[in-house]
Amino acid sequence: MARAVLAGTPVSPGIAIGTLHFLHDTRRVRRQRIHPREVAREQEALCRASVALCHAFEQTLDNVPQELAEYRDVIGAQMELARDPKLLAAIRDYIAERHVRAELAIDRIVEDRCAKFRKMEDPYLRDRAQDIRAVGLRLRECLKGSDAGRNPDVGSVLAAEDVSPADFMDRRPGSLRAVVTVEGGPTSHSAILARSLRIPTLVGVAELTDAACEGEPVIVDALEGRLLLDPDEMDLARYVERQEAYQQWEVHCWTGVRLPAETTGGRVVAVEANLENPRDLPAFGECGAEGIGLYRTEFAYFRERLPSEEELYLEYSKVAAAISPAQVVFRTLDSGADKLIRAQAALREQNPALGLRGIRFSLRYPDIFRGQLRALLRAGATGNVALLLPMITGIDEMRQVRALLMELQDELEAEGVPYAADVPLGGMIETPAAVLICDALAGECDFFSIGTNDLVHYLLSIDRTNRHVGYLNDPMHPAVVRALKQIMDTARDRGVRVTVCGELASDPYALTLLTGLGVDAVSAAPRFIPAIKHLIRQLDASSCDDLAECVLKSADAGASRRMVHDRLARQLGDELPFFTASFRTPGQ
Ligand code: PEP
Ligand code: MG
Repeated sequence: MARAVLAGTPVSPGIAIGTLHFLHDTRRVRRQRIHPREVAREQEALCRASVALCHAFEQTLDNVPQELAEYRDVIGAQMELARDPKLLAAIRDYIAERHVRAELAIDRIVEDRCAKFRKMEDPYLRDRAQDIRAVGLRLRECLKGSDAGRNPDVGSVLAAEDVSPADFMDRRPGSLRAVVTVEGGPTSHSAILARSLRIPTLVGVAELTDAACEGEPVIVDALEGRLLLDPDEMDLARYVERQEAYQQWEVHCWTGVRLPAETTGGRVVAVEANLENPRDLPAFGECGAEGIGLYRTEFAYFRERLPSEEELYLEYSKVAAAISPAQVVFRTLDSGADKLIRAQAALREQNPALGLRGIRFSLRYPDIFRGQLRALLRAGATGNVALLLPMITGIDEMRQVRALLMELQDELEAEGVPYAADVPLGGMIETPAAVLICDALAGECDFFSIGTNDLVHYLLSIDRTNRHVGYLNDPMHPAVVRALKQIMDTARDRGVRVTVCGELASDPYALTLLTGLGVDAVSAAPRFIPAIKHLIRQLDASSCDDLAECVLKSADAGASRRMVHDRLARQLGDELPFFTASFRTPGQ
């Protein structure tokens, strides 16, 4: 038996066996008063640490491989922080006013800054807390002249309060087997990087610094969320076997990415990808997706100023041309709820999730919307483009957009600017209203895309950002299952194609159910695509149909989940946990 088993949250799946090495000195910084004449010495030490750290960052930047070039910005921003005159002045003042060592001053000032950033509404600014924290930890190490962050030979399982992308880049490729941290979340830069480097990673291991020892053997189970300290022979034998099985499963998933996702009964489900940035195009190219089922266009609007039509056209045409002749479905701006652009945040709505969100915002601010639609129509001339409208609640919204599209096409025609005249227009089904009138919407939409993230939340009346009600988020809730059935049946009767583009597409239980309900296509983050295809290929169409019928009769979400679980466990055996673990880490 292992000496102890600590719980954590997997953010990058896999199993690793190795020796634990702490990145930073995790001992609490002691408060120790210094003599006033030592103040200058501590301030100079701080200055030297800042210079050393900037030098280290410069070297890290030289090490960033081309395929991870996007992380240069993150590391560059940390380097700026490490020499930020305001931050350094605040630390120097703290030393002088409180007569404390530089280490303690760094700790307190950085914590204070982090706390301020964590309270910010803007998620991008909130994320800056992690950068400041990472810089603070490394500055402290540099003070001691032992910046472990620079040691490329630090052992195989990295343990830390938190890690930043620079900590990954400083290591020789392949030298890092796993990462375990006390802090961190699934959407942090480091978690995203760990996933792209395929390094098993656990975050939120609360007891890590108290319970684990430097240099001790460990097993990181980033499938089930466990860190085994000092495992015995039996643990090791069990995990070696599990690790091999997982690696084989991954190989299976990837070898079939170019094949269609066809169930054993011959039912084909199209598998497409969700993207939000042209930078995601290489991932799209590798994952085997058959098109882009959802391109979220919000990214370009999360800036100080609104993007111009030309900027948007460049982005959209680049994506459309890159994947042609496959189709890209561009969803028009969906500001609101958890993704407020500045222009909407300025409205200061009491409850933006129920406010001028998605299509409502676009129709209220036609100048912003017209620019986006013109860019999209123009991009249509460079590839196979479809448009999708978010937060639809009535047929009038579809009609207003169609009228606007006609007007803009005339405008482009008059200007002699190339555009596509026949761009399909789809509606997102993500509000209870849209479900109830989907028969009427079918007459207005060329296709439906079910946004299950919002649909589940609006149907079950849970705010998607409120962790207190997160436990109610259950795709097996009978209200969700019945809504899906109603949409799918109506769409089939009216000949409207249905895609599911929310996270349900990458939930093995929901995916099985969706296959039984007759979904035409699913769209998910590129890294889920190989496993989604692998799963669908192992499903049997008529068995999925039976299962869907049984689940539809159930009013008990728990019982429905058990039904699906039993069926999947019979079909997939030991592979089921691989699917659940790989799908559990969040996508886009
Ligand atoms: C959804 O709501 O399911 C969806 C795909 O859109 P978003 O998550 O961007 O709101
Ligand atoms: Mg949505």
